[in-house]
Amino acid sequence: MSPPWSKPLDIDRLADGEADIDFAVPLAELPRLRSQLASVEGMVRGRVHFTRESGFVVADLSMSGAATLACQRCLQAMAEPVSSAVRLALITTEADAGRVPEHLEPVLAAGGRVTIGELVEEELLLALPIVPLHAEASDCAVAKDVPAVKEEAPQQSTQKPFAQLDKLLKR
Ligand SMILES: [Zn+2]
Repeated sequence: MSPPWSKPLDIDRLADGEADIDFAVPLAELPRLRSQLASVEGMVRGRVHFTRESGFVVADLSMSGAATLACQRCLQAMAEPVSSAVRLALITTEADAGRVPEHLEPVLAAGGRVTIGELVEEELLLALPIVPLHAEASDCAVAKDVPAVKEEAPQQSTQKPFAQLDKLLKR
């Protein structure tokens, strides 16, 4: 059975009912997030409240949790805290994006339907770093263990472009 956060919901019905929906979404199951990050695990929990404003269905989304990402320097796991509160305007065509008031963030709900997972994903794509790194190089687990000798191989390959540059300069 598919989890509740992955079910397409009718945004007009949500707004008319001023629905409150609690959710718990495993990040590894969000496809767009997974394609953007080398590795993502963890869970966010929160609540969405639906209303109408300025002619749009508005989703007040608040969530917190932690994403476990792979540091792109040492490839070890790092925890990135997630804590967000945003107001999303659900638009049914991209042309409506221009009419969304500035304090709302437009999100496309194609066919007037959206899943809670899509709303969470949209916000995480903006909130999480695309290239996650430990705050300090010294925090990287591998740095202390790997001997410096290993760096020789990549250095050789980076010398090639400089050799070509030399040739060009001699012309
Ligand atoms: Zn690291």
